[in-house]
Amino acid sequence: MRARQAQPAWERKGWTARAAVVKRFHDLLLDRNARVFDVIQSETGKARRDALAELVTVAGTARYYLAHGKHHLEDKARQGAVPAFTQADVVHRPHGVVGLITPWNYPFLLPIGDAIPALLAGNAVVVKPSELTPLSAELGRELLLESGLDPDLLGIVHGYGDVGAELIRHVNYVGFTGGTETGRKVAIAAAERLIPFSLELGGKNPMVILQGAPLDEAATGLAAGAFSNSGQTCISIERVYVEDSIFDEFSKRFADRAATMKIGWSNSWDIDVGSLISGSHAAKVMSHVEDAAQRGAKILAGGRRREDIGPAFVEPTILADVRDDMKVSAQETFGPVVSLYRVGSADEAIALANQSPFGLNATVWGRNAAQAQRIARSLDVGSVAINSTLMIYNSFDVPMGGVKMSGIGRRHGEPGILRYTQTQSIVTSFAKGGGYDAILGKMRSEKWVAGLLKVLRLWRKIN
Ligand code: NDP
Repeated sequence: MRARQAQPAWERKGWTARAAVVKRFHDLLLDRNARVFDVIQSETGKARRDALAELVTVAGTARYYLAHGKHHLEDKARQGAVPAFTQADVVHRPHGVVGLITPWNYPFLLPIGDAIPALLAGNAVVVKPSELTPLSAELGRELLLESGLDPDLLGIVHGYGDVGAELIRHVNYVGFTGGTETGRKVAIAAAERLIPFSLELGGKNPMVILQGAPLDEAATGLAAGAFSNSGQTCISIERVYVEDSIFDEFSKRFADRAATMKIGWSNSWDIDVGSLISGSHAAKVMSHVEDAAQRGAKILAGGRRREDIGPAFVEPTILADVRDDMKVSAQETFGPVVSLYRVGSADEAIALANQSPFGLNATVWGRNAAQAQRIARSLDVGSVAINSTLMIYNSFDVPMGGVKMSGIGRRHGEPGILRYTQTQSIVTSFAKGGGYDAILGKMRSEKWVAGLLKVLRLWRKIN
């Protein structure tokens, strides 16, 4: 494998040389923005603003790791076995070849954003993009090669059926982003080879809105959180728990806002909601809406597939009176569909939010900061945004990932680069006469043993 052959020299080059490539890539990415938007839009049908979000996030990831990656990867001095006579260091070494299996919803952001820290850590990377969106990852690779990356350090394998599974057989680490069912198979395949892995899977992300929250701002946040990227975002909000006293007012304001959103596809900046990825995915999303409507849910806005515009458009849709037996209540819809639920108190909202088997991201709009913080700490999710919805994704200094069925492992922050490394512990003894290992050998009389036990007692007190 070419990636495996190229990786050791890349690792030996050191941080400065690797970072120089990523710096050039960052600036080139901004220079070529229009081409990046065009390619992303051409293969996803998404709105141009959603393509912009991909560019902003990849550039942000590059900037963050250029500023902090070296520090995260530095050797860390730790306490040795015996102070003064020994030393202990933790060093971070690249895995070798990192495999990334990435989905179609963010076809530029996910492969390239995840490849950047892997490359900076000294790995070679092989990406398997979704077969529905092969071009954006290729464009990212092209920009990285133009920035000076050795072509063998970033491979892309295309196809479907068994390409993802085959990739896992050849890499030292696999990072998967996609559906929970496939994620489980990836985990099993990684376990068979005993290679480390991370999974960023689905969500059924809740939002909590309580009396006293600014309703217009919450409606703006929810429109972004539920409908941007046509709802095809792992951290999209699909369930909203609204306190009874503000439910009617909030529902009305939010429905009015959804009704004014512009749906369509063009390269202008004024489109709010673009196409879904495919006709079959639009049909799946509509099956959730139709099932809910047939079982008695109320449609407060949207609710229609728009085949007059194209094969995969669904209106931004708001549902109320959703019950547990409806598909939309528990399954990930992954489209522009959000359900509003009436709750009597913050505690009821927390209990309902935590009922989901998923646990990726949640959002809280409370009466005040203290209440919002309390609620955030009660939610079983990997991240919580207060007074915002999607902000976690651009908060590069904090880890992002799921609990429960939403995944294992984290991207961003220190764990987002250290996941691409193995820790190696190096311990050194400075003692003469056989080093640390000779200590036990010296215990040849009651006197010596008593002396040692005294030292251990004293040591605990000094600690
Ligand atoms: P999947 O999540 O099923 O992933 C498809 C990708 O995984 C393909 O690249 C495929 O490649 C690979 N793959 C499939 N089986 C295996 C395997 N056993 N080992 C390794 N790789 C494998 O994508 P879908 O498009 O089918 O999405 C399903 C649902 O997942 C969506 O409806 C949505 O709910 C959710 N989703 C969540 C995302 C997120 O960001 N969390 C993103 C996209 C989807 P190959 O065919 O070569 O095996």
